[in-house]
Amino acid sequence: MLRSAVLAVSLLVGPAAAQTLALTGATVYDGTGGAPLAAATIVVEDGRIACVGPACSVPEAAEAVALGGRFVTPGLVAAHVHYAQTGWLDGRPDSQIGTDGVYDYDALQASLEADPDRWHRAYLCAGVTAVFDPGGLPWTLGVEAGTAGSTTRPHVRAAGPLITHYEPIFPILSAGGEGTFLPMSTDAEAVASVRQLAAMGARAVKVWYLDPPPSQRDALDARLLRIGEAAREEGLPLIVHATELENAKAALRAGAAMLVHSVEDAPVDDEFVRLAGAAGTVYAPTLRVGRNWRRAVASAALGVAVEIDDPNGCVDAETRRVIAGAPALRETLPDARRDARRAFASLVAAGHEEARMAANLARVHAAGIPVVLATDAGNPLTLHGPSVYAELEAMEAAGLAPADVLVAATRNGAAMMGRLGDFGTVEPGKLADLVVLAADPGASASAFRSITHVVRGGALHAVADLAAE
Ligand SMILES: [Zn+2]
Repeated sequence: MLRSAVLAVSLLVGPAAAQTLALTGATVYDGTGGAPLAAATIVVEDGRIACVGPACSVPEAAEAVALGGRFVTPGLVAAHVHYAQTGWLDGRPDSQIGTDGVYDYDALQASLEADPDRWHRAYLCAGVTAVFDPGGLPWTLGVEAGTAGSTTRPHVRAAGPLITHYEPIFPILSAGGEGTFLPMSTDAEAVASVRQLAAMGARAVKVWYLDPPPSQRDALDARLLRIGEAAREEGLPLIVHATELENAKAALRAGAAMLVHSVEDAPVDDEFVRLAGAAGTVYAPTLRVGRNWRRAVASAALGVAVEIDDPNGCVDAETRRVIAGAPALRETLPDARRDARRAFASLVAAGHEEARMAANLARVHAAGIPVVLATDAGNPLTLHGPSVYAELEAMEAAGLAPADVLVAATRNGAAMMGRLGDFGTVEPGKLADLVVLAADPGASASAFRSITHVVRGGALHAVADLAAE
């Protein structure tokens, strides 16, 4: 109990950042893609980096921390997370597996809105110092305000409600009289939805573009172009969920600044690469979220508790509790949803889908399209915080060099958020948002699992102090 009280206080006010901090002796990967700096010193003054490199001298007044044998990188940027989701099926009443009536979605949303520190702490603990939330209930737009200037919370930016043509979803993901979605059933309505997002303070215009029926494709593709124009008029980036090649191309033609998922149905082709290059599109692969969804559904269908991937104890007790409820959840499901053959077939399909996504990521990266670290955390079994590790490893397994994975997870994410002037690289003038690792991230993306410390705005945190109870 004592530790919980101390942590709660520290999350509210934060440890004061030392006026001057000097990290000495580490090998620094600065996030620019250049060669690592051996035996480097990083001097931090008033939360920002004043000097980095082997030649920096340690100011006399500095609090010096010796990091010989350790590795330092910029803090990780997770470019696709959802604060209105939990990492379990309770946050997705649209899952259609028969959990209707099991969870109280209104109460869940009220609790998530009241306690964004639940996810803030998990992210900082995992080494993530900035997140982008591309879609959720309107309250998610208010999370950013509590993070500005903080040394204990990641930077947060959010897109708020999503525009979609798939109207059956509207009542399912509503809570407290508010909705997660805005309509686009006519051109005028689509433009009005963009204007509404701008008025709400959304940081992007997100379109949830599900595979349209053939009879509606031309009209909807044209409407997506109109939404892109309206977003540009509002000075907001267009970001699109479009996971099939043809729909992703429609998004690129509309000027999408980010595709929030991989193309998963077919190999990307020359036209896709050309359109993405012309639009300056960023590619967010989310390689593991599909497998994790299916694992969650299978665990409920089979009544088997699942192991969570949380090497440093960052996942909070409530999240662990609700996930551990899978065996009890099985008892509430209709018989058709407890079918083992169906569950295994779904997991096999996830493997095929992952192979297509990995090949597409390799092609996109080789073509010079910027890639970011994106987990889609908050979806079932893609956990806020530590889900970044498996995603980084999946990017490496797809063929990206560890050094390229590092740049995707830091500089590219900061650029996507429009914040590269403030963070994303270890350079003088930037905020001191850093992670300290025991293993070498230039050798393997798995090194991020060996995190020992996080620096946010110049305040040094031991990961052990950020861990959950
Ligand atoms: Zn998402």
